[in-house]
Amino acid sequence: MRLQTQTIHTGVDKDTAYNSIITPIYQTSTFRFEDVGVTKGYDYSRTANPTRRALEENLAALEGGAGCVAVATGMAAIATVLHLFRAGDHIICTHDCYGGTERILRTYEEQFGIEVSYVNLQDPRNLEAALKPNTRGVWIETPSNPLLNILDIRALSATAHAHNALAIVDNTFLSPINQRPFEHEADLIVHSTTKYLNGHSDVVGGAVIARGAALFERLSYLANALGQGASPFDSWLVLRGIKTLVPRMRLHEENARAVAEFLAGNSSVGRVYYPGLKSHPQHELARRQQDGFGGMVSFEVNGGIGEVNHVLRSVRVFSLAESLGGIESLIDHPASMTHASMHPELRAKAGITERVIRLSVGIEHIDDILEDLGAALDFTVRVCVPSEQPTAAAAAVPA
Ligand SMILES: *Cc1c(COP(=O)(O)O)cnc(C)c1O
Repeated sequence: MRLQTQTIHTGVDKDTAYNSIITPIYQTSTFRFEDVGVTKGYDYSRTANPTRRALEENLAALEGGAGCVAVATGMAAIATVLHLFRAGDHIICTHDCYGGTERILRTYEEQFGIEVSYVNLQDPRNLEAALKPNTRGVWIETPSNPLLNILDIRALSATAHAHNALAIVDNTFLSPINQRPFEHEADLIVHSTTKYLNGHSDVVGGAVIARGAALFERLSYLANALGQGASPFDSWLVLRGIKTLVPRMRLHEENARAVAEFLAGNSSVGRVYYPGLKSHPQHELARRQQDGFGGMVSFEVNGGIGEVNHVLRSVRVFSLAESLGGIESLIDHPASMTHASMHPELRAKAGITERVIRLSVGIEHIDDILEDLGAALDFTVRVCVPSEQPTAAAAAVPA
């Protein structure tokens, strides 16, 4: 079956009692044994639950992996993967990773003796140069958050494998509809299902998919031992969200392209970051590696923090909020919101200045989206003094 058909059908058929079309929510902590030592495949919901299993089978199929563990959040997915490593191991992480990834890696460094290097992996040769004898993992996030840099999964995975290290891809920004890292030789995929997979901003969830059976078995052990599993209700919601993943991704991209082109032609806007634009430095790699460019667009405001705050406060269709990938449009200021927990030095090195605004373009009518951005970027509606003192919100931005 094709991917689009699998989003709707794979794994959902769990009700043999009544043949319900939709997977029931098995809201139970435990399961009655048929006889001593005999179950119907489930004994306790931390270990396995039929609703969660339906989601896991679905996601494993969409990514083309041997198996999936669905967990409580994207960070739980990342933490589960990090438990594959041991003290003394070295992990090389892309330098502009998700802020929460950098934060948990720092904790593992400080408390558990994992060594971490942050490297600009846009040139795969930089990975080669950063390898150490104890390198066991390469953390790849592409497109990156929030600047949408593209990493070459195939090249990085090949280098990782030549050194006996795992290639791990955070595929949250594109979903398996637009990017399937196993086709480019990655070993593990993590998702925040909070984002496009669920798509309706009403769940936090995560998943890890393993390409091989041995890694899947180890991850299942860890998810159970750590108690990471997603709840039956959240699993059910994500499974429901995935049924419309294909048409949603199509609409997100259609709108995001229009927004990127609109911003590129707006005089209040500096650089626009969208891999679908021909001007994006890695447009060709994105075309080769991805099946679509996704719904995230970032841009730099011409001006200072006063102008940035003006945009953040003026929008009406966009909501000022963290997160992404839902049907509604969101606007984010990475330096003070999603990436505030990132080490300031690393943030500066990654190029995430306080002038950068990130958009999660929703599936509202495009005219409303463009009118909203156009009005917010019209700085003539109030007097802008270039030397304007930072506002209270700007002052709260971590140094
Ligand atoms: C949101 C996000 C995460 C973390 O997921 P949660 O569900 O918020 O825990 C990890 N990686 C990326 C790329 C994300 O956008």
